[in-house]
Amino acid sequence: MTSSGFEALLEAVRGPASVNVLVITGAGISLASGIPTFRGTDPGAVWSNEVMEKGTHAFFQRAPHESWKMYLQRFELARAAKPNAAHRALVAWEAWQEAQGRGFAVVTQNVDSLHEDAGSRQLVKVHGSLRLARCSAQGCELGAPRGTVPMASVDFSAFHASPSPETVPRCPRCDSRLRPHVLWFDENYTEHDTYEIERTLILARQSRVIVFVGTSFSVGVTELVYRRGRKLDARMFSIDPSNASLDRGIEPVTARAEEALPELVRVLQS
Ligand SMILES: [Zn+2]
Repeated sequence: MTSSGFEALLEAVRGPASVNVLVITGAGISLASGIPTFRGTDPGAVWSNEVMEKGTHAFFQRAPHESWKMYLQRFELARAAKPNAAHRALVAWEAWQEAQGRGFAVVTQNVDSLHEDAGSRQLVKVHGSLRLARCSAQGCELGAPRGTVPMASVDFSAFHASPSPETVPRCPRCDSRLRPHVLWFDENYTEHDTYEIERTLILARQSRVIVFVGTSFSVGVTELVYRRGRKLDARMFSIDPSNASLDRGIEPVTARAEEALPELVRVLQS
């Protein structure tokens, strides 16, 4: 790994003692764990158009059972997946930063649990979690803006036996339909407190180095963080094998995350 981008990243991370690092991860980091991306070019992403259409609140209102079918399928796939070398490297990097008295946080757009499973501690699940459901009624104690329900506690037996709008599991408090606890394309980050968008923007403000890993740009949280980083003159990097259409001011580290991140940590620790 001798690309100029990698050397620049290393130099930035080793820089002044006050340096805080913010890492923003996207689907690319989970690819090596066998979870297909939503919109990438990997073979599993062929149903990406379906996700764009079905990953909306409007679709849930129209066909709640079809919405649930898609998420349960994805949940099964994610549940079988294990963290890869990139997830583990981020945990080691966090420990290194802490030992230096420096800040470190990961904001992930992924709804899988691979960062948690690997052991990341300062972690924001900005798009929600496949491990959680919530009530679809706004204001219910188990729904937005604060409530969630562990997916493991939801009984899907009637739904699995015969998926229909009637068998979609119901909220134990108010009997409205439960919904996946994920941010849909027609929703906002502010809809649920656990998306922690405010914390994300504060972290972006406090970080001198921002590293995007396996994510596309110009959408949602990447765009918000990018704009903060530009304004505050943070060093910004993108670790991605393709690094197509990078925004101005982002330095490319054109490599797979599961190769570049362990290498970075190895050099930091040496
Ligand atoms: Zn409810």
